[in-house]
This record gives sequence, C-alpha cells and structure tokens, in this order.
Amino acid sequence: MAVRDIKPFETILLDRPAIIGPFDDTNPECLECYSKVSVSGYKCTKCNLPLCGPQCEDGPTHAPECRVLQAADPPISVEDQDSAHPVYAAVAPIRMIHIMRTNPDIWEQVDRLMDHLEDRRKETKWSFVRDDVLPLISERCGLKCEPDMIERIIGIFRTNSVKWEDKSKGLCNPIGHALCPLFSMMCHSCVNNTRNTQTMGGEMIVRAAKHIKKGEEITTQYRGPNAGNILRRPDFPTNWLFSCDCPRCNDPTELGTMASTMRCPACQDPCLLPASSDIDSVWRCTSCQREEAQEHVIQVVQGLEMQLDAFPYSASPEAWEDLIKKYQEQLHDDHFLCMQAKRMLLQIYGAREGYKLDQLSRELLDRKIALCRNYIDIFSRLEPGYRVWKGRLLEELLGPLTITVNKDLEDQKIDKIQYILRYKEIVKMVKEAAQCRQFEERDTKDEMIGQFYQSWMKPLQNGSRD
Ligand SMILES: [Zn+2]
Ligand SMILES: [Zn+2]
Ligand SMILES: [Zn+2]
Ligand SMILES: [Zn+2]
Repeated sequence: MAVRDIKPFETILLDRPAIIGPFDDTNPECLECYSKVSVSGYKCTKCNLPLCGPQCEDGPTHAPECRVLQAADPPISVEDQDSAHPVYAAVAPIRMIHIMRTNPDIWEQVDRLMDHLEDRRKETKWSFVRDDVLPLISERCGLKCEPDMIERIIGIFRTNSVKWEDKSKGLCNPIGHALCPLFSMMCHSCVNNTRNTQTMGGEMIVRAAKHIKKGEEITTQYRGPNAGNILRRPDFPTNWLFSCDCPRCNDPTELGTMASTMRCPACQDPCLLPASSDIDSVWRCTSCQREEAQEHVIQVVQGLEMQLDAFPYSASPEAWEDLIKKYQEQLHDDHFLCMQAKRMLLQIYGAREGYKLDQLSRELLDRKIALCRNYIDIFSRLEPGYRVWKGRLLEELLGPLTITVNKDLEDQKIDKIQYILRYKEIVKMVKEAAQCRQFEERDTKDEMIGQFYQSWMKPLQNGSRD
C-alpha cells in the first residue's frame, strides 16, 4: 500500500538478491561465473564439479556449495554435456542454507516469504525435489539440515525468485534465478503500476511506472501482459499457486481490449468471449448467444500460437499481412495473437531493406502509423504508464509521422496551423519516448533511496502475497 502519492519514476524499492542460483535444468556451467563449461575440461579440485579453471575455484559464489559438495559420498561427477545434472538444482538451496546460518538479517527477510509447500508437495513435479535434490543434499553430502527446512527453502525459491541476468559484462546473459527478499513482498497485478530494472551492479530497482495514489496497492508482475487471459490466467495457479484477481483477469473483455475475443463460428461477429469472469467459464457470443466450451477455444488458440511462433520473422511484409488477415478470420482484430503479429510487422516496415522509411509508399507509411497507434492504444490499457515497450513504439512512430507531415505541407494538403499542431504532437511523443526509455540502466539518484525505502516497505511488509 502506498503511504503517500507517488510520482512516476520515483524509486519505490532497492533490493539485492539474497542468493542467485543456476537454473534447475541447466547444462553444465561454471558455478562461479556461470560460463558454459565442458565436462571433459577443468574440475574443481575440491568438489569435482566442472569449472572454468583454477581462477574460479576459490571464488566467493561457489564457496558455499563447494564446501558441502566435497563431502559427497560417492563423489559427484557431472559426465553428461547435454543434460541437466540434479546437482545444479541443489546449488540454490545450499546457498540459501548458508545464508540462513551466516546472515540472520537477510534470512529474516527470506523467512517471511511464502513457500506454498502444502500445495507443492501434491504436484508430481515435486518428486524431483523429494527423490533427487533432497537425498543429494542430506544423505549423499551429509549436510545437517531438517529436510522440511530444505523443502521450505526450495518452495520459497520457486515461489519468489525472478530470472536474473549477468549485466556486468555489458551483455544481458540470463544466468539463473535470484531471490530478492524485499521485491518478493510485492504483490502481482497484471495491470501493475511499477517497473523494475536490474542494474549493472547487480541490484534490483523498482520504480513507479505511473502516478500511484495514496492507499493504492503497489504491484509488480510475475508474468508479462502479452498473452490474453485465456493463456495467461492458468499460469498463476500453476506456477505461483494463486489466482490473479486483478481488474484484467476479472474482465472477459480484458479492459475493453478484446485480447482473447474470438470470431463467432456461427454469426462471424468478433463477439465470442467468456460468459463470466470465472477462470473456467463457458464462452458465449454476445451477438447470437452461441456457446463454445473453453477447452475448445484453448485448443484453437494454442494451435494458432504455435503457428505464429513458427512463422519466420524473415517472411515478407506481404506474408505477414496475409497471416494477420487469416488470423482475423478467426480472432478479434485486436486479439493478442493478432497484436503479436502486428508488432512484428510494424517493426519490419521502416527497417527492412526494400522497406526502409524512404522507400515506403504513402500507403505503407500510413499502415505503419496505424499499426503503431493501434498497438499503443491496446497496450496502454493493458499496461498503463511509462513503459519501455511504449518508448520503443513511440520511436517507431516518429519517422513516418515526420515524413508524412512534411509531405502533406509540401503538397498543400494541410495549412501551416495544421502543420504546427501535428508537429507539436510529434515533439510530445519525443519527450514521452525519452521518459519511457529512461532508467534502463542504473542512475546516480538511486543512491538516495536507501534512506527512505524503509518507509515504503513497512506498509508492504505487513501485507502478504495472498
Ligand atoms: Zn568460471
Ligand atoms: Zn568446488
Ligand atoms: Zn491478473
Ligand atoms: Zn455469434
């Protein structure tokens, strides 16, 4: 809950991962620097796990699990280059146990988080934890820690960790999952009001993406907004064990965007959508009342999604236009799959050889403008505020808008006043684009935040994720 009005871009929270752990299903990688390694290459002289070389052997990142894994009986040996060894899933819990024992302040923050253990133990995929990870840590390595506690730690990690990148080398290499304990206290909303950035220094900064009123809940998103309700909603119970109750999930029209709405097979109107906000609601055409079972709709949408994923970006703009037309025979014009295809197409116009801005016909310039405006209109409702995607879209718009306004003046289609008005719109967009794109990296102003983030976090910490 915001304790006062918050302006866009104000820093709400600065966090540092309690631990970072490799992905459970990673192929062999160096546990100090996360580089890919060969199983026939250098092995740690203490724990026998593959590392880059002696320079990584005594690093601080690898130290906690190195101490534990070197006690393994029989010793652990990673032999297979192309599959995941369960030892990699044991690294994050071992690092967390180390924090529990050596850093009570951070552990206190971690220990407040949800593990959803009761539900997780019922899942079939939990058998990997019970049959592979736990015995490796407790029995094979003899680490003295209650199995219940190890399970809780894994549950906390699965519920709360976020994908983490190594930005120190100027690249954005995903290296695993990080548990940021303060950030993890924030609740999810598909229509959230913050954005977070991972800094070069390895911190997580959460900023307001829009005005947040006093008393309003400060929210983040565990999952992006691109997919429509039909495919997005089931992810919350599956991955995070809660049902999202946000305004978008509760609205079959998805805030009026029609992001999951289908064309009715009976009357052809783009009016087939869930009859209620229940997650398993029947679908009904608001035009002719025809009903469809949800499973059927899911099947159709998943099929079309697979087609779209397989459609080559290198296809010609004409082929992309045809794909969109074909999709719009079955889906609402602004269905999320149509929007995904439109996003590709609007980037191709203006960028690809033969379709550079100065090569585009007026018709295609106008098409690019219309696609950009349509995308901004739909996604501004789904993800309001200053967003990186919005900055990119506004930048896409600037070129064609500038060319067409100059051309219209030249051809005397508009007078000087209309010209100035349209030019003002462009200048406004430049400013907004710059605002949307800022803070993609760390800013010095963030040093200030340590002093007052506590006052933001207090009210947050009193609530729980559910
Ligand atoms: Zn290394
Ligand atoms: Zn080692
Ligand atoms: Zn939601
Ligand atoms: Zn109908």
